[in-house]
Amino acid sequence: MLKAKSIETAEDLLYHLPFRYEDRQNPRSLDELKPGETASVIAEVRGAMLMRTRKMPLFELTVGQGRYALKCIWFNARYLEGKFHAGQTVALYGKLEPSRSSSNLKMIQPQFEILPDSSDDAETRLLEVGRITPVYESLGGSRLASRWQRKVIFNLLEAVRGSVPESLPAPLLGKLDLPDREAALREVHFPPEGTSLTQLQAWATPAHRRLIFEELFYLELGLELKRRRMRERQGIAFATDEKVRGAIREVLPFHPTAAQKRTLGEIVADMRTPNPMRRLLQGDVGSGKTIVALQAMLVAIENGYQAALMAPTEILATQHFLAARKLLERSSRKYKLVLLTGSLDEDRKRTNRGMINRGEAQLVIGTHALIEEKVEFDNLGLVVVDEQHRFGVLQRFKLMKKPNQPEPDVLVMTATPIPRTLALSLYGDLDVSILDELPPGRTPIATRRVPDERSGEVWEFVRKQVKQGCQAYVVYPVIEGSSDDQPELDFAKEDADNDGGDRSSSPISESRPFDKLRAGTGAPQSPEKRVRKGKTADLFPGAAKEANPAAKSGLKSAVAMHEKLRTGPLAGLKVGLLHGRLDADDKEVMMRRFQRGEIDVLVATTVIEVGVDVPNATVMVVEHAERFGLAQLHQLRGRVGRGAAKSYCILITGERVSEQAEERLNAMVRTQDGFELAELDLSMRGPGEIFGTRQAGLPEFRVANLVRDKALLELAKREAEYFVKNPEGFSETERARVRARLKEAWQRRYGLVEAG
Ligand code: ADP
Ligand code: MG
Repeated sequence: MLKAKSIETAEDLLYHLPFRYEDRQNPRSLDELKPGETASVIAEVRGAMLMRTRKMPLFELTVGQGRYALKCIWFNARYLEGKFHAGQTVALYGKLEPSRSSSNLKMIQPQFEILPDSSDDAETRLLEVGRITPVYESLGGSRLASRWQRKVIFNLLEAVRGSVPESLPAPLLGKLDLPDREAALREVHFPPEGTSLTQLQAWATPAHRRLIFEELFYLELGLELKRRRMRERQGIAFATDEKVRGAIREVLPFHPTAAQKRTLGEIVADMRTPNPMRRLLQGDVGSGKTIVALQAMLVAIENGYQAALMAPTEILATQHFLAARKLLERSSRKYKLVLLTGSLDEDRKRTNRGMINRGEAQLVIGTHALIEEKVEFDNLGLVVVDEQHRFGVLQRFKLMKKPNQPEPDVLVMTATPIPRTLALSLYGDLDVSILDELPPGRTPIATRRVPDERSGEVWEFVRKQVKQGCQAYVVYPVIEGSSDDQPELDFAKEDADNDGGDRSSSPISESRPFDKLRAGTGAPQSPEKRVRKGKTADLFPGAAKEANPAAKSGLKSAVAMHEKLRTGPLAGLKVGLLHGRLDADDKEVMMRRFQRGEIDVLVATTVIEVGVDVPNATVMVVEHAERFGLAQLHQLRGRVGRGAAKSYCILITGERVSEQAEERLNAMVRTQDGFELAELDLSMRGPGEIFGTRQAGLPEFRVANLVRDKALLELAKREAEYFVKNPEGFSETERARVRARLKEAWQRRYGLVEAG
């Protein structure tokens, strides 16, 4: 029960901080409460009863202070019967709502605690009455509720009094004016009289800051050391002479943007040094990362090394393979390209593995199969990871090279912005290059929201676009219907219970401030305005706000809708189907046909959400748009608007659009700025939800919160760097203490400690 919350040791328990505090020293008076606020009050029980209504039993509690009274309501709460007795003192915490029947307020479903009276033991009274009282998230049922935790933690703190070892170097504590560890632990649990309640609730007391800083300091210190260690390894110093430049010139299909030139410059500068490159290239969808990577790979190849490009899905790998082949055909040099994905047939896999192993394959494009199929490269020089948001995977590149070979350079590419704080902690051991400019000639994408019942108009619109020579995507949340057949799905949080599949192909947005992104491409107009002028103006006048309650329940699936559209509203058009369960050859064929324009409309699942690049596609229709996460919608929209033609994104919503989904859809209509969307996503879901915690390599924090603690993270990073660069500023004892603590923290929290 405790273990499920990662509480295994006494120390863990001490770091399980109260999630809020109640001021029982100066309790609120009932008459100063306002409707809409969430408040904690202390009052006396006046009466309680269970009321049977037609729908469910309601439990009603009346409490009072003098002449003021407050009603509390719990739904379906038969279990409360007999719990309260007149005269008891209770602490209540909940949201206040106006009452219909009287002028009084009522509290709906408050959390409550019956306060101890003179018959209770002194310790309980000491901890719960007349002080700022900590309230804990309950640990496995009521047995381990706040009261239990208060006592255990109090006793633990008593037992270790004077003997909690400090974990940060003393000079650092002095410099930052932070309390020592023991005092901090004591004060976050049992705040001394006079502590600001506002600061407590915000986890902003010096004691809180100290504990948060500690956690972030060891994260950043670990990352800093990793970065150093990597720099010291033997890598490859690539040459960039006229021959290499000539090779690149032969294949470049267009003039690179200034941002592409700059980032390539940064990458190549790393490649020229004899130390391994670990660099992240961030650029919003459509910013042109691929060609930058391809040029870097040509540098490696022209130096006689192999280059590998790893994509998160087979479809993307296949697309990269086809595109690279087409591009490299322009060259007079006969480059040897090889594709390696999991669902290739065994013969082709074996042949390709052989070519890779013997060094005949110069450019290898594939999925995680490159790691999983135990491919051993002959002389791997550069690994590019496209659309990567996972972190642990970096560790595994050593599997790909022969043991006696130098460390290959690694370039990780990612779309959609990741707020800076997350970038710092997720990619803290990478250098970052930013593509903050879109290729010329892009026009913003008009985004509209349409209720299901009006989908007929959408299909008409799609037909019109196709008639003008454009192509369209139509995306569904499931492949075939039942809710558990969707390995490609990454539903947003509140829909998580519908999510049967793994999230390994989920998109995940990450990147950096992209506020400058569109600076060079003309002032961004709101899509709203443009649409009114454009030809869709009359198509979706004032996109409807309500979903159709009559729409049938259950999700439309790609397979079923492909059939329906092909024979119904889109009859006469060439309609293709693409999803993750097709085998590699079929995917390849379908991708190629769509790319060549032999397919007008591609019905698909989210397999197409990352990376797919068909500039002639101008319409992205997403059905059940309310089911998709924000990052995912942004990625999907990024599939269009890649050419010069005006593009459209149409979000069709079914019934039951939750409040959160509303917010996501509105944001999509409002803005195309990936940075803004990522910030919103982060604040709505939190980093753990977005990145998956352990699996994504994102540290699971005990006390820190990357959204709240941005400033402390930056501080921790600065101090960690300082510590590494100025060891002489700390005594040997201090340094030893830091080393020990670092090892422990990383082993336990992140499991990423490498030997050496
Ligand atoms: P992403 O960064 O999302 O991976 P891509 O690399 O797929 O973007 O590029 C998006 C589209 O823009 C592609 O069709 C690509 O050929 C095109 N493109 C990239 N760079 C330029 C450029 N400098 N000029 C014109 N088109 C470009
Ligand atoms: Mg891409």
